[in-house]
Order: sequence, then structure tokens, then C-alpha cells
Amino acid sequence: MAISLTSRSNERLCLTANSEERYVARVFSKVGVVGLGTMGAGIAEVFARSGLDVIAVEVDDAAVERGRSHVEDSTGRALSRGKLDEADRTAMLERITFTSSLEDLAEAELVVEAIPERMELKADVFARLDKILPPDAILATNTSSLSVTQLSVVTGRPSKVIGLHFFNPAPVMKLVEVIRTVVTEPQVVEDVEALAAQLGKTDVTVGDKAGFIANALLFGYLNHAVSMYEQRYATREDIDAAMKLGCGLPMGPLALMDLIGIDTAYEILDTMYRQGRDRLHAPSPIIRQLMIAGRLGRKSGRGFYSYEAEGSPKVVDDDLTPHVGSADVDLRDIRSVGVIGSGTMATGIIEVFAKSGYDVLFVTRGREKVTMVDKAVARSLEKAVQRGKLSEQDRTDAQGRITGSISLDALADCDLVVEAVVEELSVKQALFANLDEIVKREAILATTTSSLPVIECAAATSRPGSVIGMHFFNPATVMKLVEVVTTVATAPEVAATVRAVCGTLDKQPVSCGDRSGFIVNALLFPYLNDAVKMLQAHYATADDIDSAMKVGCGYPMGPFELIDTVGLDVSLAIQRELYLEFREPGFAPAPLLEQLVTAGYLGRKTGRGFHVYPS
Ligand code: NAD
Repeated sequence: MAISLTSRSNERLCLTANSEERYVARVFSKVGVVGLGTMGAGIAEVFARSGLDVIAVEVDDAAVERGRSHVEDSTGRALSRGKLDEADRTAMLERITFTSSLEDLAEAELVVEAIPERMELKADVFARLDKILPPDAILATNTSSLSVTQLSVVTGRPSKVIGLHFFNPAPVMKLVEVIRTVVTEPQVVEDVEALAAQLGKTDVTVGDKAGFIANALLFGYLNHAVSMYEQRYATREDIDAAMKLGCGLPMGPLALMDLIGIDTAYEILDTMYRQGRDRLHAPSPIIRQLMIAGRLGRKSGRGFYSYEAEGSPKVVDDDLTPHVGSADVDLRDIRSVGVIGSGTMATGIIEVFAKSGYDVLFVTRGREKVTMVDKAVARSLEKAVQRGKLSEQDRTDAQGRITGSISLDALADCDLVVEAVVEELSVKQALFANLDEIVKREAILATTTSSLPVIECAAATSRPGSVIGMHFFNPATVMKLVEVVTTVATAPEVAATVRAVCGTLDKQPVSCGDRSGFIVNALLFPYLNDAVKMLQAHYATADDIDSAMKVGCGYPMGPFELIDTVGLDVSLAIQRELYLEFREPGFAPAPLLEQLVTAGYLGRKTGRGFHVYPS
């Protein structure tokens, strides 16, 4: 990464982070963009907003007009949101010259190509640009996955060819990945890094490997989410809601596929698969089917979702949209709820139910634990009152609804019992066998397990149809998501009842089957494991990988920050479970993760994991 300062003579003085060396970076004033689709239009806007003159090229007049309206619409939105004023918008639009002739790039100092992700198309454009542009001009590609090296050798200037990978939407996302090949001149890399800084972007520079940092980590996850949907493991709405609410991601994976473009996503996955032969990158068949059917995502008005119009971000109902209350079953009546356990999850769940008006009877293994839970709930309710989130009266009412006990027999008349005891199968099985004897027949028995098979709990009872998973997230009082896990035996009205109960708790239920990791952990942990593999391969540093995912994809935490927070031991255990269940070679825990756990570097809790934390 380079730090750049503009001197009075308008030359760019760059100080590299790892040396004292100073050089005078090139200052660009006229640049070109080829292809004005999803990415190119945004890239042209970014350049023009930074004061550069832009020559923007499309295939024909109709495509030029489409590109122009992309830029006008995008800057119009920025204007209406107060992010740009009218005069600046007019000035920046005047800086862009739209054309359908590549020859108009004859004076460009740098050109970014953003045409479809196909090598033969890009190679043809690069060969033509090489003949048109001045000899010292830089040729950059916005490719997400194709080999920049392969593109460079179709030109007579391979050392001036580089990757400049913007993120979607380009005017908003702050990251650019700069891709240097083995022949790219260091000066060209530095010039492009300085340009990225001038554009107000954060750059990470990496080598020429399919997917670079962000897409290499993102696309395995996206493909996995698509295959969950394709296997009808969960609905598109539930998969997306799970990742947004469970991980704080700005978009769910299927909505993101639609934003990226189904054809572009297919090409990226296909290239990554061909280069790495990792089965997890082999595009899920439905991606190709959507592509052939012309359902390319937002840009064509339909992909995984349907949109109001071509290019519109507004999702509209279609024949796959679930309709509230459409379940054709009689719901069970739930008024009193039993909670078993005294840990973090149990305490949170007790509070959530009590605040929502349920009578809660909790059971722990000793009087002192009953007192402990009472105190923890009281503290948490007090905080809610102090923050103005709960009235005094509601606090008193909630507390009045909670009763503690040390006997499971007290649960006999509960309508729903949720267990949140230790994550050990034999303990949970014995508990379910006990509950089966004690609790009335029409009651629902739920487990909050994060990793054990719910069917194992169901099989320990004589009423497997009434057993279900309710996977709350930590802290249960804050996190909106509940994964509602049905087994092969769960009765439809039990699932519908539990979803309805979640609604009354102001939680978002998502339904999924009884597979390791449910939705969130199954999608999250293999991605984290892939990040460890990338680090172990010395492709990029932990800081650069964290930064790429935060700045490029809007993730709230980078993968290493997240593993350090969750705990390396916990992450490893979850990854092992996933590997054992799916026997997927790509899920095998990264050796580096195993080694760090062996060394006792467990993350924040030990002061050291992938990062070091001051004590
Ligand atoms: P797109 O299909 O939205 O747009 C491509 C545009 O290129 C079209 O408008 C097409 O008319 C034009 N085009 C085709 N051949 C051309 C030519 N010879 N000369 C001029 N214009 C031509 O594609 P996109 O999603 O913008 O992707 C463009 C590139 O950016 C790809 O390499 C892709 O991998 C990369 N990329 C995409 C994303 C994303 O989220 N979509 C993100 C980063 C990078």
C-alpha cells in the first residue's frame, strides 16, 4: 500500500510503507473505460467525480445511451440523497465523453476494461487497445477472476498491464484490488496505487490468482448458498435473512448474486473452478440455468428474485414469494414456556419470552443457579430500562412472569419447553427422554443446539413430531434471528406454531432442515476456513484479507477478526463438525487453524489468535 501526497507542482509524491524510497508517481488526467454495464458505468462515474476526463466506450449507440443513463441515474440518486450538488453533477457529467469507437481512446493515459467476464472478448479488446493507445499508457482490467497475465501477453506491452478490480457498486464501495502479474513494472503498480488513493479508495495489491482476495472468499460462499436454495434446504428469503441477521451482512447471498449478475457470477465461478479444481467452486447447476434463461439478476429484472423493472433494486412478489399465514394448519396454543438451563443462552431466552408476555418457568440444577439467573435477568432488564428501551411497568410485569425451579416436574403444564443446557448429545438425549415423561402430550419440545442433530433429541422421545430446533443467536435479547430446525419427523403444525411464536418475540424465524450448521454456520465457517487457507498460502496478510472483506464487501468484521472473537477452538470444532457431516474435502479444517489451536492461540480470550491483543 502506498501513501500519496499531491505536491504543489501536482506531481504525486509516494512513500512506500516498507522503504524510504521516494518516487514521483504519474498523475493521470485523461482515462478511458471500456464497457458501461454494471461496473463500467460506476467506474466512469468514480473517475469523473475525482476530476479526471473520461472517455467511456460501449459497443454501439444503444449501449452508449444505456451506459449514459446508468451514470445519470446513479448521480441523480446521489443528488437526491444530498451526496452531490447540482453544479458538481453537471461538471462531472461534462467530463465524460461517451462514444462507440475505441479509436477515441487514442490519447488516454490509462484505460480500464469492464466488458463481460470472457477471456476471448477481453483478449480481443486488449489487442485492439494496444494498437490504439500511446506506448506508455496503462491497460487495466476490471476482471474478477480471469488471468491478468494471460491478457497482458496479447499486447505488446505486458509490463504495463495490470488488474484494477473495483467493487459493486463502484461509486460506493471503497476497496480496489490492484493485481500485479509477474511482469507488471513496479512503477506501474505504484502509479495505479496512487491513482486509487486519488479516487478515495483503499487499495490492496495482490498477485494474479483467480478471484484475488475478496471474490476467492466470497464466491465459494455464494455458490454454497445457491446450492442450499437449489436443494430446497431453505427458501431464498430465509437464506438471505439468515445471513443478514445472523452475521450482520449488508445483503443476503442470493440478493447479492442478483446484484453481481448471474452471468458474471457464473463466469467467475467457472474460472475459479478451472484454475483451482475446487468442487466448491463448480457453479451450482441452477446458476447456468438462470443464465441460459436470461434471468441475469437485477440488470434483466429477474434472477433469484423478481424486480420492478430492469436495473431496479426493488424486489416485487412473484410465484415463489411466501405468503404470511399461508400454512394450512391449526397452530397450537402457546401461553406458558419452560426454559431449561442457566447459561448465557438460557438467561437471554427467559428474558425474551417474559418481555413478550409469556409465563416463563425456568429450571436449573440447584437453588444458587436459580438465584444467579434471576439476578442476571434483573440486571439485563435494568439496563433496558436505563437505555429507555423498556418502561418500569413492563420491567415489573416481565419479572412477575418469571418463576425459577430446580425440578423438571414443574414443567408438566408448559405449552412449549426450550432447552439450552450443555452442548453434549448424551445430556440432551437424557433430558428429552425425561421431558417426554413429564410434559403434557400436546406440548412442543425445542432444543437450542447449534451443532447436534435435532433428530437425536426427537428420537429420545415418544413424540418426535413435537420436537424441533429453535436456534437463537447470542445475545438472544439483541439478535433478531432464530433458525427453526425441522427434522424429518417434525409435524407441520409444530413448525408453523414455532415460527408464529418467533414472530410474537419480535424475532425473524428462518426455516431449515436438520443439517450440521443449519444455515448460518454452514455458510459462515467454510468461508472463514477458506480465509485461513488463503493466509496459510501466503497470498495476502491477515490485515489485507480483513480489510478486503470489510471495505470491499461491507462485512462488519474481517474473517480473522471474527475467528478471534468467536474463538479459534470454537471455530475449529464447528468446522470439524461440518467436515464430518458433509465429508466435503473443501471443508477440511485448515492446518494453520489446527496449529494455532494446539499452540493455545485461541483468539481474544487468550490475547492472541490471528491478531495479537494487548492485555
Ligand atoms: P455487464 O454485463 O453488466 O456489462 C458489460 C458491458 O460491456 C455491457 O454493457 C456490454 O455492452 C459492454 N461490452 C461488451 N463488449 C464490449 C466491447 N467490445 N467494447 C465496449 N463495451 C463492450 O458486466 P459487469 O458486471 O459490469 O462486468 C464487467 C467486468 O467487471 C467483468 O470482468 C466482471 O467480472 C467485472 N466485475 C464485476 C462485478 C459485479 O459485481 N458485477 C464486480 C467487480 C468486477
